[in-house]
Amino acid sequence: MSPDAAHPDDAVLEVSPRPGIGRDRAAQLAREVYGVDGTVSELGSHQDRNFGVETPEGRRVLKIANRSWGRPAIEAQNAALLHIAERDTSFHAPVPVAGLDGTHVHDARDGDDLLPLRLLTYVEGEPLSDVAHLAPAVVADLGSLAARASSALADFDHPGLDRVVQWDLVRAGDVIGALLPSIADPARRALVAEVAHEATTRLAPVAPRLRVQAIHGDVTDDNVVGDRDEAGRVRPDAIIDFGDLARSWLVADLAVTVASVLRHHPEEPARVLPAVLAFHGVVPLDDHDLEALWPLVVLRGAVLVASGEHQALLDPDNESAVGPLESEWRIFHAARTVPFDLAEATVRAALGLDPPARVRAAQAAVADAAPLFPTVREIALVDLSVTSDQLHAGRFLSPSAEREILRAAAAASEGAASTRYAEPRLTRTVPDSATAPATYALGIDLVLPVATVAVAPWDAVVARVEGSAVVVDSAAGRLTVAGLRPAVVEGDAVAAGAPLGAVGGGEVHVHLCVDPTLVAPAFTTADGIPGWSVLCPDPSPLLGVDLAAPHDDPAALLERRDDVLARVQEHYYAEPMRIERGWRHHLLDTDARSYVDMVNNVAAVGHGHPRLADAVSRQMRLLNTNSRFHYAAITEFSERLAALAPDGLDTVFLVNSGSEAVDLALRIAQTATGRHDVVAVREAYHGATMLSDAVTTSLYDNPTALEDRPDWVHLASAPNAFRGRFRGPGSGPDYALEVRELVERIASEGRPPAAFICEPVFGNAGGVLLPEGYLPAVYDAVREFGGLCIADEVQVGYGRLGHHWWAFEMHGVTPDIITVAKAMGNGQPLGAVITTRAVADAFTAQGSFFSSAGGSPVSCVVGSTVLDIIGDEGLQANAAAVGDRIVARCLELMGRYPIVGAVHGMGLYLGVELVRDRESLEPATAECYAVCDRLRELGVVVQPTGERANVLKIKPPMCLTAESADFVMECLETVLRDGW
Ligand code: PMP
Repeated sequence: MSPDAAHPDDAVLEVSPRPGIGRDRAAQLAREVYGVDGTVSELGSHQDRNFGVETPEGRRVLKIANRSWGRPAIEAQNAALLHIAERDTSFHAPVPVAGLDGTHVHDARDGDDLLPLRLLTYVEGEPLSDVAHLAPAVVADLGSLAARASSALADFDHPGLDRVVQWDLVRAGDVIGALLPSIADPARRALVAEVAHEATTRLAPVAPRLRVQAIHGDVTDDNVVGDRDEAGRVRPDAIIDFGDLARSWLVADLAVTVASVLRHHPEEPARVLPAVLAFHGVVPLDDHDLEALWPLVVLRGAVLVASGEHQALLDPDNESAVGPLESEWRIFHAARTVPFDLAEATVRAALGLDPPARVRAAQAAVADAAPLFPTVREIALVDLSVTSDQLHAGRFLSPSAEREILRAAAAASEGAASTRYAEPRLTRTVPDSATAPATYALGIDLVLPVATVAVAPWDAVVARVEGSAVVVDSAAGRLTVAGLRPAVVEGDAVAAGAPLGAVGGGEVHVHLCVDPTLVAPAFTTADGIPGWSVLCPDPSPLLGVDLAAPHDDPAALLERRDDVLARVQEHYYAEPMRIERGWRHHLLDTDARSYVDMVNNVAAVGHGHPRLADAVSRQMRLLNTNSRFHYAAITEFSERLAALAPDGLDTVFLVNSGSEAVDLALRIAQTATGRHDVVAVREAYHGATMLSDAVTTSLYDNPTALEDRPDWVHLASAPNAFRGRFRGPGSGPDYALEVRELVERIASEGRPPAAFICEPVFGNAGGVLLPEGYLPAVYDAVREFGGLCIADEVQVGYGRLGHHWWAFEMHGVTPDIITVAKAMGNGQPLGAVITTRAVADAFTAQGSFFSSAGGSPVSCVVGSTVLDIIGDEGLQANAAAVGDRIVARCLELMGRYPIVGAVHGMGLYLGVELVRDRESLEPATAECYAVCDRLRELGVVVQPTGERANVLKIKPPMCLTAESADFVMECLETVLRDGW
């Protein structure tokens, strides 16, 4: 059965003013009719009057319906609520409360009217309407709720369902027609009329085939509530209002939900997909639903604006009518800007379904093409992807790169070269962009010999000739060939093989689109490509060459990784992007999306540095051997390292990693002192070898770290003045005293320490600065008892702090041994121990020291070149300036957002610590992960760090620019403001 629209005027019957019943009268009704006494407060409503009533049994909602509802509709709602309560308890909905007379629906007098009156239980939960950003999981919740409501109502029937509801999309055309005059602005009025006409026309053929049943019709952000999950996101699991219950198209329920998601993300319509997928998972959508979905979303947008404008006219003082108007227009515009074909193709692709039959037919016709350029035999294909060898050293940012590469490729072959179809071009990336750039090419660009003739690949009609562009329509859809001297004019009928024109001097662009009415872009985003690639098919059959860019499947690659690589060698993100290039402080994934890299402290001088690459390449060609040979690089680099250390620390050991450096430092200290015991601090990370792991006490990395320490490791409290045993800037002496007492104790037990090891900025805690006075007092105590002091500068040293080269400098101390790695090699495995000649010589007691690749010619050249770059590019000063800028901005955010509990660190080694409560310092761990996931969507790579994974770690390449830092801070503010 298909519900027919009643008389057009009936369709807008409901839009009369709200009942004139106030709070006192509501309280009286609650008391007299339901025997309920309690505090009454008014709740907002578009058309009704709703009051909250606090009763001893819990909160209730007293509802007085708009005059035009009619009693059967209200009876139907109550029956539906009782039906749902029986059918599906996986989501919550209000339950009708009986009156003193045992019935559920009563009358309330309002002037001459008798209005339907009800009392319902109040559904607890937080609304979603206040949440600006809807995470994909939340969008999926909405879709799932809509489907579960539809499913629970599938076998519900009631005479009251056959009513005229203005929101019923079956009647959308009539409703919009009737309300249109309320839109005062003529241009907007005309636009709504036109858009609604297109949507109804599109819907008409499929409408009779749509499934009809009782539907909720209003599962939107305004109408659902839920509890917060661990990360603080509202997860809707309850529907609060059933006022739009009607017999209608099943798929309309989903359309309404989808439209409400658009309000939150009008610029990114693909963000509705999780709702569609979730709906489909509960109530599978058929071909007709999929064809009707977007026209219904558009109609919902049009009904919203028409009705909103109308209601605002009728009841200008009603905030709940006037308030949402702006966001209703946002929904309308977001919906109308997505072409119907694109929406359908995108949804079908997301559901793993083939394109609709009409698209498949056009695609088949494309495959039947005669050659577009019959004289061209060979075409060289150029690679503009993220891994292209033509795009190093930032060349991808040059506006002329594509053209130059194409021309060079043509010159090197037989004069013909082409770009690849559906390739995400690195040349189209946009650094520091919060939205994904349109990188995917929907057509191809070619360089061909001048005067090459282009012919019609099929029998076709010339639709347009515009400058050098010839546009022809055929059974395969629309073909555009630009860059020709046209040989045809508009309206010409051309047979397959007939000339269209000849190539001029510039590039040729070829683009196909199955639907001549669609205005297809030349490039689309990663979100857009599944849909657009269906509508703008691969033109390979026209060129006789496989033009398709290689298919990239990061998920399949990840599976292979998981199959072969130890799982404990973890990766960031549950579904990581595939990163295949870095350039300075940006990372680029295989969609050619740019991310600001805020975590790769190892790439200190930036990614892809050409000077470093050249130096490595040259040395690899010359020599790469080991430290047992005599060559200049090892001497020169060691001299430079020693010169960077304080006076007296003049002897260098070269190794391959931070772990190896720490391991060696501990062995050196033990040998030099003839002792075995070591004092380390809790919550620290020092490495992964046996010895460096022995002093690694972080429970984040190893939850049993404190249980299985060897007996020679003695632990002092984590010197974290923010949340440690002693707090505040004056806590240094307290922490130091604890170490002194520990040293005294172990010495008195006959086990004086060989060494004390810690990071001079507490990197593993998220960049927490050690409290003043701590390090000098601890070093004094340790030395008093004959121990050596090791400063682990693997993370925090080497200029990153901006204001200091070494972190220990800020405490006015000089360690006996420095360990360094990471930044030293900019990613090339390279580490060092720097100590005094005396300590180093004492180690000869252990025989000789050799590390096969430690101090190799290539490593030493890398080390020297990194130092050259840091110096020549002023990267330490940059770390100071940009770091200070970030700190200032973070402190400002801390003033406005309570979740920001502290800003740690210095220069470009920073940590933004997130807490649920500033008093208890309860770590906001789940929130921190969620914030990082959202920042990634916005184009920023940040990760949680610290013992409780509640600190946003900020340790980017030292070449981070002020512009990119500002962009990151903007994104962070967006996330803190709009949610995650
Ligand atoms: N010490 C510190 C302070 C570190 O942070 C790390 C690594 N995160 C290491 C040592 C070990 O360095 P690597 O990973 O190069 O072995």
